[in-house]
Amino acid sequence: MLRILVCIKQVPNTTEISVDRETGLLNRERAAAVLNPFDETALEIALRIKARTGGDGAEVIALTMGPEAARAVLLDAAGLGVDRCVHLCDAAFRGSDTYATAKILAAAAKKLGPDLIICGRQAIDGDTAQVGPSMAEQLHWPEAAYVTALPQLHPAKTSMTLCRTLDGVEEELRVPLPAVITVQKSAAEPRLPSYQLRAAMTEKIERWDLKTLGLAKEDCGLAGSKTRVSRTFTPPPRPLCTMLPEGDILALRASLKITEGGKA
Ligand SMILES: Cc1cc2nc3c(=O)[nH]c(=O)nc-3n(C[C@H](O)[C@H](O)[C@H](O)COP(=O)(O)OP(=O)(O)OC[C@H]3O[C@@H](n4cnc5c(N)ncnc54)[C@H](O)[C@@H]3O)c2cc1C
Repeated sequence: MLRILVCIKQVPNTTEISVDRETGLLNRERAAAVLNPFDETALEIALRIKARTGGDGAEVIALTMGPEAARAVLLDAAGLGVDRCVHLCDAAFRGSDTYATAKILAAAAKKLGPDLIICGRQAIDGDTAQVGPSMAEQLHWPEAAYVTALPQLHPAKTSMTLCRTLDGVEEELRVPLPAVITVQKSAAEPRLPSYQLRAAMTEKIERWDLKTLGLAKEDCGLAGSKTRVSRTFTPPPRPLCTMLPEGDILALRASLKITEGGKA
């Protein structure tokens, strides 16, 4: 059976978020928490691949790392129809940067044994787009980022064909499995959730901690992170621009000896 692991993140709704002028930090608690929109697409892609295997030829597992409240995104995934939900929750995970986050998710992947890991292109709060590729690196698996369409699984289920767009160039790739991919929102329109499916999963969400993953405290959180944030600040506002009438621009160009080609 093909096993697909979808990594999903709970994020603050960035349309509601503001910055604390005193501390320069995000006011996360004031914004509603939602499922990262790119991860909704990742779930949809996984469920469509499963449907193409005839339904019972694949298993879709949703995985999140986050505090107690992050359980809510697993229920969102359950409502879309995933088979299994795993919540990585431990005080030791707090303060993890993208490297440590990827290490924790990769440790869970090793236990779950997926053929394919699907991540969103990026999280709308952190915005780094690093977690998927970093997981692939830590698992020593091939990785394809920015996938733009439903992957075509080959009959033996040992490889697939992917499409992606990089810098305006369309690429078609053949990728051996197991692999990690990250998906663009344009890859698939997410389905509507079912409240019955969501309710059926409420008691079945698995919760794994540091011990379950077999990681040491030093691998996680700030101790396991390669990044140190030395300061956060709001950049000073740029000076207001002044619109010049066309005549003034021509005079200015002449005084600076700027020719039509733009060179002085
Ligand atoms: C020093 C430091 C300390 C930090 N401390 C904290 C903290 O205490 N609390 C906190 O919330 N953040 C913290 N962060 C931010 C945290 O590291 C990132 O939010 C996290 O690593 C994901 O990075 P990203 O948001 O850029 O995700 P991206 O790399 O942009 O995400 C890409 C994809 O990876 C997957 N993904 C990302 N994160 C998760 C996740 N948690 N679970 C499952 N799938 C995921 C999703 O599929 C997502 O679409 C800290 C960062 C640094 C540098």
